[in-house]
Amino acid sequence: MTKISEKVESLLNKKVSRRSALKAMALGGVAMAGGSLLSSCGGEKKTEATTATPEGLKEGKVTMRTNPKNGDDISLLGFGCMRFPTLSNGRINEELTQQMIDYAYEHGINYYDTAWMYHGGDSQRVIGNCLRKYPRESYFLANKMPPSAQNLADAKRIFQEQLDLCGVEYFDYYLLHNLQRQSQWDDFYVAQGVYDYLLEEKKAGRIRRLGFSFHGSPELMEYLLNQPVDWEFIQIQMNYLDWEDPNMQARELYEMIAAKDIPIVVMEPIRGGALASMGERLVEMMTEERPELSPAGMALSFCATYPAIMCVLSGMTAMEHVVENVNTFIDFEPLSQKANDTLLEVARLHKANPSIGCTQCEYCMPCPYGIDIPHIFQIYDRTSQELNLPDPNGPHDKEFMRKRRLFLNRYKNTIAERATAEFCINCGQCEPACPQRIRIPRQLDRIESLVKQLKHI
Ligand code: SF4
Ligand code: SF4
Repeated sequence: MTKISEKVESLLNKKVSRRSALKAMALGGVAMAGGSLLSSCGGEKKTEATTATPEGLKEGKVTMRTNPKNGDDISLLGFGCMRFPTLSNGRINEELTQQMIDYAYEHGINYYDTAWMYHGGDSQRVIGNCLRKYPRESYFLANKMPPSAQNLADAKRIFQEQLDLCGVEYFDYYLLHNLQRQSQWDDFYVAQGVYDYLLEEKKAGRIRRLGFSFHGSPELMEYLLNQPVDWEFIQIQMNYLDWEDPNMQARELYEMIAAKDIPIVVMEPIRGGALASMGERLVEMMTEERPELSPAGMALSFCATYPAIMCVLSGMTAMEHVVENVNTFIDFEPLSQKANDTLLEVARLHKANPSIGCTQCEYCMPCPYGIDIPHIFQIYDRTSQELNLPDPNGPHDKEFMRKRRLFLNRYKNTIAERATAEFCINCGQCEPACPQRIRIPRQLDRIESLVKQLKHI
C-alpha cells in the first residue's frame, strides 16, 4: 500500500511545477489585483498561520466559514461522499477511502455529505466507519431523505436505517433530497406529514439542522422559500458553467437564497469532473489568472468566492484530489473580479463545443433495457471537450479520419455490446430522474446517428 506521503510526493511531481510553486509563495498573503468578490457567509476564519512549502504544498488547515443562522464553524471545503474510490468489483475501496478521510480531517475538513442512494447506500456505512474514530462533536455529518421514499412509514424506516448505517445518534445537517417538483413538497412532505415528522426528529435531537437539496426552477425555489419554514441551509448545484446557463439558472438561484440570508452548500462545483479537464486553450486562459491553481482549483474557487457560500462539496475519488483541493482551501484566496469574468468567458467558449453535460451521477440508472447512459455520454463529452469530435459533414481529410478512429474506438472499447445507444427504445423512463435536465433519449439518438454515419465513411 502506498503511503500518503508518497502519494503527496507523486502529486507534487505531477501537478505542481517549481515555477508555479514559487509564484504561489510570492503571492501568499497579497491581495489579488482587481479586488475580491468576497465578504463572507457569517465571517471567515483562517484557523492557523500557514506557510507554503518550497514545493508549493501549503501547511495548515482549510479556511472555515461560520453559519450565520447558528454559529456552526464549517470548513469551506466539504467532502462529498458520492464518488469514493472503488475496487474492480465495484465495491468501495474502504482502505483508500479511510486514508483520504483521515487526510481531509487532519487538514480541517469537518463537513461530510452522504445520501441514501450514493454507492447503492454503502456510502453511508463507509463514511460512518471512517469517522468513528473521531469525536462525534468534531465533525458535521449530512444525510438526506431520498426521493424514493413513498410515505410517512417509509420515511421513518429509512431515517432509522440511515442512523444505523452511519452508526451515529444524530445527523448534523439533514436534507430533503433532490427537490425538483412542487408535488414532492406538497404531496409528500406536507400532505403525508413527513416534514412534521422530521421536525419531531429535530426536537428529539436526532437532526440538528434541516434544509433541502435542489434541482428545480427559480419558480419552485421561490415557492419553497415562501413556505412557513425556517430553512437553515440550502444545497444547490453551482459552478461557472451553470452560472449563466439559461437551463440551470445557478446565478438566479444563488441570488434568491442569498437575499434571504440562508447559507448555501454547493454541489457539483466541478460539474461531475468535467471542469477538471478542459481544452488546452481554456486552461491557458485560467493559468494566466491564477497560475498556482489547476482547472479544478479554479472551479472550486469560483464557488467559494461568493459570500453566501457556507461549504463547497467536492466528491473526491482519489488521494490526489484530496491533497490538491485541501491545498486550494488552506488560506483560501478568493478570485478577483477579473478571474471571475475570465471563468465566465471560459464557460462561453466551452459551450461553443457541444457537450451533453452529464455529471455521471447515475440517477437515471439502471435503464430497464440495459443502456449504459452515463458512459455513453462520458465518451461523447470527453471527446468533444478535447476538440476531438469528428464532424461527418466536414472534409474527410487526415485529421477527420484520426478523430473518427479515436471516437469509434473509444465507443466500441468502453460500452458493452448491447448497452450502446442503438438499443435505446425511447421509453423515456430515465429522463425525469436526470437533475441536469438532459433529454436522454434524444441525446442517445443523436449519438447513435453520429456513430452510424461515422461507421459508413
Ligand atoms: S429512454 Fe432509452 S435509455 Fe432511457 S430508460 Fe428508456 S431505453 Fe433506457
Ligand atoms: S444522464 Fe443525467 S441522471 Fe444520468 S448520469 Fe448523466 S447527469 Fe446523471
